[in-house]
Amino acid sequence: MNIFIMKDLFPKEHFKSWQKAVEQSRKILLATHVNPDGDAIGALMGLGGFLKKEGFEVTLVSPTKYPAFLSFLDPDNEILIYSQDSQSVEHAIDEADLIVALDVSGFSRMEALGKIMLRADAFKILIDHHTDPADHEFDLVFSTTRISSTCELTYCVIKAWKEDAVFSKNQANAFLAGIITDTNQFANSVYPGTFRVTSRLVAFGADTEFIYDRIYRNFSYNRMRLMGYALQNIRVLPEFKCGYIVLTRDVLEKYGYNNGDTESFVNLPLAISGISISAFFLQRTDHIKVSLRSKGDIPVNEIARKFFQGGGHLNASAGKMTDSTEAIEPLLKKALGTIIA
Ligand code: 5GP
Ligand code: MN
Repeated sequence: MNIFIMKDLFPKEHFKSWQKAVEQSRKILLATHVNPDGDAIGALMGLGGFLKKEGFEVTLVSPTKYPAFLSFLDPDNEILIYSQDSQSVEHAIDEADLIVALDVSGFSRMEALGKIMLRADAFKILIDHHTDPADHEFDLVFSTTRISSTCELTYCVIKAWKEDAVFSKNQANAFLAGIITDTNQFANSVYPGTFRVTSRLVAFGADTEFIYDRIYRNFSYNRMRLMGYALQNIRVLPEFKCGYIVLTRDVLEKYGYNNGDTESFVNLPLAISGISISAFFLQRTDHIKVSLRSKGDIPVNEIARKFFQGGGHLNASAGKMTDSTEAIEPLLKKALGTIIA
């Protein structure tokens, strides 16, 4: 099952090396990116739960808090948050025989935590689906963009290692939540293997309605009102087929903003007929977070990299800017001019 595809994607030695590294380890630390999303938390919980059941001592780490709507994936609060409990995390890094980085192209996506990870003595493995993996930071790299999500890839790595692997309902839910969120509910980055893995996860007890309920029908009243403001204030740049939204700190305050409340707002302008690029600007204390999405073959990761100190996938990227909110539209137009003829 899917091993066929995995063997196409990675040389046989990768799987031998994975097996050796994991089976020689006792303490394994799994970590993901700052502001983790469903794919990041899903991969931590799915792989973490599986390794624990196999008898390994496993520590799960996120550099920063995950949004409350993802807490159903971590019902026993197993994930350590580096920004809240740096001592426990640093101790676990010192002790780890093996570190697996999930859903990051390199340690820089873990910010301060990444710097400590880089110095660790442990064997380091990357499992990811972004472009430009930082190969030199790892002893073994499973990285491909030809897959929906880190969750799908992690599931396949486990299956290539142990063909008869069995997953609990929680682990299956975790992996499927990552696939559902990273594909924007099966709209982008979907391959035949995505449905094969989804089918297996449902057979292991993953509950699509439960996942949808927790992620897409679980919003606070404030969040819905903030979305109303965002919808009312979409600005359209017809010459670039672009719609964008800016949420300043005073607006966020007015609507009682909580971390995670703007999740998926970036997709709203793409629902307008004729719009192929959307941008979302969220003002934070010391910078403006920029999220970019596109349809078809428009490479928003190019402008994320060149103009917004970030990167990501062809159709879904992000970065930041440190100028004032007035600088948003001119900078956006300049950036769009480089990818829209
Ligand atoms: P989002 O808009 O959901 O925060 O991010 C969209 C995509 O861009 C995600 O797949 C994320 O991994 C990637 N991304 C977000 N921030 C950065 C960044 O600073 N650098 C790079 N290379 N990718 C990013
Ligand atoms: Mn991902």
